[in-house]
Amino acid sequence: MSTSSIQGYATIAVGQPLEPFTYDPPTLGEHDVRVSITHCGLCHTDIQAIDDYYGITDYPFVPGHEIVGHVSALGREASGLKEGDRVGIGWQGRSCGECEWCLQGEEQLCMDIVEAATWLPYGGFSSSIAVDSRFAYPLPDAMSSEIGSVLMCAGITVYSPLRLHAEPPARKIGIVGVGGLGHLAIQFAHALGYEVTALSSSPGKKEQALAFGADHFVVSDPTSLQELAWAFDLLLCTAPGKFEWEPLLAALKKKGKLVLVGFPDLEFNSTDLVAHQLSITTSFLGNRATMREMLNFADAHGITPAIELMPMSQVNEAIQRLRENKARYRIVLVNDMDATRA
Ligand SMILES: [Zn+2]
Ligand SMILES: [Zn+2]
Repeated sequence: MSTSSIQGYATIAVGQPLEPFTYDPPTLGEHDVRVSITHCGLCHTDIQAIDDYYGITDYPFVPGHEIVGHVSALGREASGLKEGDRVGIGWQGRSCGECEWCLQGEEQLCMDIVEAATWLPYGGFSSSIAVDSRFAYPLPDAMSSEIGSVLMCAGITVYSPLRLHAEPPARKIGIVGVGGLGHLAIQFAHALGYEVTALSSSPGKKEQALAFGADHFVVSDPTSLQELAWAFDLLLCTAPGKFEWEPLLAALKKKGKLVLVGFPDLEFNSTDLVAHQLSITTSFLGNRATMREMLNFADAHGITPAIELMPMSQVNEAIQRLRENKARYRIVLVNDMDATRA
């Protein structure tokens, strides 16, 4: 096993650009695998962590949690994988295995979730990473590595709530936001058989939203939303930031659900929420079983994220594109670090 140092890109203080960063390989735990990274997607959560939005970022911080690469070493107890296997790794790289949620197979709710992040100690904008082998998922053979990488966070983030919260007889689903998450949510919801309406503040996204599989497109301004009264069983809000929530809540059927998967700011009048028995609920990542199901479903139904490939050495340009809302729709960084990979 190589013990050469790992190369990556780290931000050394809140909000700063990333810079080349070299570190010693973390010790490989007995259930761990080391994965030599070929691809890593750029997620909005990476940027929020760079900016310490969640208040949990330690610096120097190496972001990156939509990882694809090849297994290069295995701990003594790691099973189900072998050297050379191509795997995907998402935001969660381990779990305590002992809390009530882990014991129920809901590892994404682990009581030690902050410690379970793949990016601890350092994330996927690196030449290699070590995670618990149970959180490294073999990718279907026909799936490209860039598609696999995007599915590891964006994919599971939108697939899991559709499976969790859109139980029959729900038929009509609105996807709020046509971005990195939303364009995938449209594809999954369509493939799952729902009547899908894409809602976006950008009228220019209509054609692409329909091409992704939306049956309808609506500009999400209050006037247009008024025409959607009682339209949806479920609204999946994939966009971050601030919204006018009352017109969205008014677009739900009675007992309808608003499901949040990003981290938007909430402030609204609760009249419609209470009077129509609406629910606001959430979904965070997905458990391991749903992760495997999602990969097979995406493979079987040809779910195809729209991807811009960029070399990892241009990580700061990629971050700037995402900050300026210019990414169409997901940026995946291809590892171009030429040093020996650990
Ligand atoms: Zn993410
Ligand atoms: Zn746990």
